[in-house]
Amino acid sequence: MLKVAKIKEDFPIFRSNPDLVYLDNAATTHKPVHVIEAIRDFYTNFNANIHRGVYRLSVKATEMFEEAHAIVAKFIGAAKWYEVIFTKNTTDSINMLAYALLNHLQQGDEIVVTVMEHHSNMLPWIRLAELRNLNIKFVEVTPNGTLKYDQLSELVTRRTKVVSFTHVSNVLGTINDVDRIVKIVRQESDAIIILDGAQSVPHMPINVKSLGVDFLVFSGHKMLGPTGIGVLWGREDLLKMLSPAVYGGDMIESVEITVQNGAIVSKNIKYAVLPWKFEAGTPNIAAGIGLARAVEYLSNLGMENVRDHEKMLTDYAIKRMQEELEDRVSIVGPRDASMRGGLVSFNLHGIDPHVVATLLSMNNIAIRAGFHCAQPLHIHLGLKRGTARASFYVYNDINDIEVFVEELKKISVMASR
Ligand code: PMP
Repeated sequence: MLKVAKIKEDFPIFRSNPDLVYLDNAATTHKPVHVIEAIRDFYTNFNANIHRGVYRLSVKATEMFEEAHAIVAKFIGAAKWYEVIFTKNTTDSINMLAYALLNHLQQGDEIVVTVMEHHSNMLPWIRLAELRNLNIKFVEVTPNGTLKYDQLSELVTRRTKVVSFTHVSNVLGTINDVDRIVKIVRQESDAIIILDGAQSVPHMPINVKSLGVDFLVFSGHKMLGPTGIGVLWGREDLLKMLSPAVYGGDMIESVEITVQNGAIVSKNIKYAVLPWKFEAGTPNIAAGIGLARAVEYLSNLGMENVRDHEKMLTDYAIKRMQEELEDRVSIVGPRDASMRGGLVSFNLHGIDPHVVATLLSMNNIAIRAGFHCAQPLHIHLGLKRGTARASFYVYNDINDIEVFVEELKKISVMASR
């Protein structure tokens, strides 16, 4: 059980905004004082660039940044610390993977994604398919908001080289059955399997070994960490095999190029070891260190407890919305909270979701409205104006949901007049 009142004290945002009912955690989360202080501490006491200096500050910054990789690696059960690559965010991680795969795919190869993907797990693959003349296929969803697993079996073939899907839908809340997907894909192909963990890693225990996927991507800012830091975890052998995605400083071991008469006459470029091969340029050092503190904070709470807490809140929210709003609300995704992450997308009948979010904001209740960067899914479900979405985290409690449902009721009554 999480002690929410005590947890809330760790988050300064609730001191400066005491009435805030923050239900937009799927977009980004607030930061505990541990993370904020770690960033301040880095810039105040240890600021230096990594890998470049022999002086004390640079050595210390390098150690702290490497240690941050190791802390994240442990959190997701990675075999080696250097399988964790720091990126900017989930979007950056997926784009990097797509470009790293550019030279490994040929015309006619297939990529399989699902219609429930966030744009960031769809557009990079659509672009890659355009660049390489690949065939991109989409697994659809049932009216209940679960994937059509039988269709996945039909879509995956020997020519499928990449299968990329979300662990938890940021709209439906559906927790996809990773075991089942991995089994189907491995049976039918030798495709690389990529898991978008943006909505799962912050909310439940994750172990990349037991998940059995090849890559996992997620964002620091959705799990109490700073913005500007994300993760690309990959199996060591695959990371070694792939070409780098971004080129420049810090990602090379040596660059031997001889120029004569304005032309290269000899060239020998060796890339750096993992993870640096994929971390070109000066990284967001402070944010990496901040993410490590966020991971420690979550580990101290216990990820099983975080999951149980959110399941309880989701179950409660769905129940209360249905009790109070009856047939004036439509909730998307599975009804059973054990099949979904800590978010509820919905529509109040006869009211645009943006209006719902705007009216709630007048009472300092923060939710999101629109397509949530998943427009194809909304269109697929016939939700042309999108949905409103409430999403929960460790500092939310039943009282937040009561305040939220009470306001929804008023809005719904107002609209029916
Ligand atoms: N995938 C999913 C499932 C998401 O929910 C999000 C964020 N809404 C992203 C990817 C993209 O995350 P970011 O904006 O941090 O890159």
